[in-house]
Amino acid sequence: MLVASSAKSIGTQFDSGTITLLWGTKNGIVPENSNYLDQNTSGIPDDNKSMDYWGRLGTSSELTLERPSLGLITLSGVNVVVMVELPQAANSSVAQYIVRTPCGRSQRAVGGELIKDIQIVIDPGHGGIDGGAGYFGLREHSVNLSVSEALKSELTSRGINSFLVRSSNYHIPLASRGLYADHLQADAMISIHHNAPTIAPSRHPGTEAFVQSNSNNSSRLGTLVYESVYEALDKFSWISWTSQYDAGVIRVLNKRGTDTYGMLSRPRTPTTLVELAYLANRAEANLIKSPDYLPAVSVAMADALEEYLTKPSEQSYSSSVRNFTAADAPGFSVCRDPDLGSPLFFDFEEDALKEAFLANE
Ligand SMILES: [Zn+2]
Repeated sequence: MLVASSAKSIGTQFDSGTITLLWGTKNGIVPENSNYLDQNTSGIPDDNKSMDYWGRLGTSSELTLERPSLGLITLSGVNVVVMVELPQAANSSVAQYIVRTPCGRSQRAVGGELIKDIQIVIDPGHGGIDGGAGYFGLREHSVNLSVSEALKSELTSRGINSFLVRSSNYHIPLASRGLYADHLQADAMISIHHNAPTIAPSRHPGTEAFVQSNSNNSSRLGTLVYESVYEALDKFSWISWTSQYDAGVIRVLNKRGTDTYGMLSRPRTPTTLVELAYLANRAEANLIKSPDYLPAVSVAMADALEEYLTKPSEQSYSSSVRNFTAADAPGFSVCRDPDLGSPLFFDFEEDALKEAFLANE
């Protein structure tokens, strides 16, 4: 009997993805009794891979999964989404879960810190084999993470719960990355990036906020973030900025007229992807390295996010259109999950040890 499934496609979008089928046994739901399917699973006809196969699977399914909206920071510090809370063994104080890993797979996790009532999901762009832009000794994946951590602590100080999609330098495919906020039922998601290459000299920051074309809430979110970050950076008036001529709040559309960036097309949660400043411009790279940068951008983004959460508005927000079709980002086939960690046992009770070994299988 199929008791639970996890998929990026079911019921909503028909694009490519993964599905994990879990079935129950007398031992309950365990990840060992599961089937993991993705685009590369043998037996899926080539011409059926994207739309049809997953679409059919989705539309014919009447399953709904009652899933807790919980984040988990695993024992090794990896941020994952909880799919199922497993019943705790009677003789154990260690909680166990089936989680969705960064690569989008289902896996057992033991212990860790549960995070609930998440309002804002923060996505530090890039990571692992996809390092993003690199200039003047800066790597984008690392700058994005530092900014994300600063934003998280600023939000925490204001009583706003947030959760990072990525907690150190590892790869997450877009199809998995884009779903964190939906799974956590967050109010909004912000994806943090730094721009390259340089385009043209400018007297003002070239900050850009990309928004979802089908969501006024995304436009509102992007507008608040853009205006706040632009204003904060513009105070560094001695910087020789760089900018695109249409920098601002932008819907980036591909040839089909839909959102180009997976981080915007995939989530249903209102999301904005922000290019804060240009890594590739030496003056801006120096600002990013200075101690003034993190407080300036994290406070600016927290101001915007706080306003988004506390002052809902029915006003309609405008954005301009940029036509751009992006190359494919690295996908599932190259994704290697980071170690989720395992608990330390300080006693040598036979059952506890057995449990630890089982969890590590
Ligand atoms: Zn980027």
